[in-house]
Amino acid sequence: MNARSLLLGTALLAALAAPAVAEEVNIYSSRQPELIQPLIDAFTAKTGIEVNIAHIDKGMVERLASEGDRSPADLVLTVDIARLAQLVDAGVTQPVQSAVLEANIPAEFRDPGGQWFGLTSRARIVYASKERVADGEVTTYEDLTNPKWKGRICTRPGTHDYNLGLMAAMILHHGEDAARDWAAGLKANLAKKPEGNDRAQVKSIWAGECDISLGNTYYMGAMLADPEQAQWANSVRIVFPTFENGGTHMNVSGVAMTRAAPHREAALKLMEFLSSDEAQRIYAETNHEFPVKPGVPRSELVASWGEFTPDNLNLMDVAHARPAALKIMEEVDFDG
Ligand code: FE
Repeated sequence: MNARSLLLGTALLAALAAPAVAEEVNIYSSRQPELIQPLIDAFTAKTGIEVNIAHIDKGMVERLASEGDRSPADLVLTVDIARLAQLVDAGVTQPVQSAVLEANIPAEFRDPGGQWFGLTSRARIVYASKERVADGEVTTYEDLTNPKWKGRICTRPGTHDYNLGLMAAMILHHGEDAARDWAAGLKANLAKKPEGNDRAQVKSIWAGECDISLGNTYYMGAMLADPEQAQWANSVRIVFPTFENGGTHMNVSGVAMTRAAPHREAALKLMEFLSSDEAQRIYAETNHEFPVKPGVPRSELVASWGEFTPDNLNLMDVAHARPAALKIMEEVDFDG
């Protein structure tokens, strides 16, 4: 008898003795536990299933690969299509088929093979100084290379996943040569060397070092909730640039079931719960993101940023253009 069937046998005996046997699900999360705890609490309250979260900031793929079939993890929660695609490419996920997930999550936000499912979405936008940037001055991503922005732009490193996603989208829209010109033109307009995270760039706008920065939408909510950072947030407004021939660049946070998944059934229940109206509202609101399930309202704050047109590129195409995006960022020495 192997360990798993022994566990199953034990669980069965326990179930016969006491109907309220504790099931459990183990999550490896690259997101801060406090950002997902409200969801987990709601799930446990509803189902009685215990959820254990291990916060894994770096080396998620390597860890799952080295644990192999002995991994205690059932689910991975992470952000960015690049990281979801890396899990799939490393063979540490398994396909999930669920009518509930397919009904709740639109096709553009999940893997056609069921290897990952988007749970929230975010836009990569421009934070613009309320004082020094006029209404209508920010238009397209392509226009960020316009000389009118010389010395006025801040961004985190070009080799970060978030900027590689944007670059990958630029390649898909215009081809590699035009994307390389864009990266070089953007670099030429930077106020300073790319350093720090998205919030640090908004701080730089607040400090008068630059006028606009690239950043993800949810950081506005995160900054407003922080006593020190709220003043940075209040010095800027969110503008949704678009591609000339498309919309605003989008990415996702998502979930995947591990290949090992020792608690497959309970894990599937949690995945389905995460796509429900209730969980979508909690998850998006806690993280200041957009729900992926149609009809679930945005939080009041997120709705206040206004309507915009999301870009309609396929996210797997974006993930697969990432190596070309990285190559271009290195060729133009974007972070140098
Ligand atoms: Fe982030």
